[in-house]
Amino acid sequence: MLKAFMARLRQGYRTGTFPSTPPVLPDRFAGRPEVFPEKVSDEARRICPVEAISENGRIDLGRCIFCGKCAKVCPEGIRFTEEYRMGAFSHEALTVPGVEPWQESSNPELRKLCGKSFKIRQVSAGGCAACELDFNVLNTLAWDIGRFGIQVVASPRHADALLVTGPVSDNMRLALEKTYNAMPKPSFVIAGGACAISGGLYREGTTAGGVESVLPVDMYVPGCPPHPAVMLEALLRLIAYR
Ligand code: SF4
Ligand code: SF4
Repeated sequence: MLKAFMARLRQGYRTGTFPSTPPVLPDRFAGRPEVFPEKVSDEARRICPVEAISENGRIDLGRCIFCGKCAKVCPEGIRFTEEYRMGAFSHEALTVPGVEPWQESSNPELRKLCGKSFKIRQVSAGGCAACELDFNVLNTLAWDIGRFGIQVVASPRHADALLVTGPVSDNMRLALEKTYNAMPKPSFVIAGGACAISGGLYREGTTAGGVESVLPVDMYVPGCPPHPAVMLEALLRLIAYR
């Protein structure tokens, strides 16, 4: 017991200081891009594996898988930055250039309802499972979402919000709807990752092509998968954490 106590003392406090300070991001992190539509080339559009770049040179971050191919072939038109504040309250706000999502006001009703406690039920509705893995990281001591009153719960009956990952495969659609219907209302839906927002790489398979064709979505968190910092910043904005 004493040994364990001493080891704990030696380790000290390991939880990161985000959101008091900006998160520490890896060198290869690709955040919200800077896009100059008039300079975006046809090749950049053609090379995009998910057709995220429109004819007028704008990128839909709800589709983007952040592979960086477009920026490689068209550096003068597209440049990925370290901006991690990408979660948005509407799909339209994921278009770049466009409104800066972190400027949007959060939902005061949700803050009033949840107070200092926010319970999330997560449903994996297809996809590759990387979104779930990176969300699970938020439960480790490095991120410790419990300090914000956020907790993952096993039962939808205890949940304030439903976090959906994956494109909503046909086989998961009924289970997702049942989970949502079992939640006390009002409840909130978070689409986590390109698959959940738009179907991502699976949009042409036997899927619903994203959550919003099945359930109303309150928060869209882009990425493939979203980095834990992207997800946590979006969650804190959703619950108007202060
Ligand atoms: S980074 Fe996004 S927009 Fe660019 S090619 Fe990859 S998926 Fe398409
Ligand atoms: S968005 Fe990317 S990481 Fe997440 S489930 Fe889909 S393919 Fe996997």
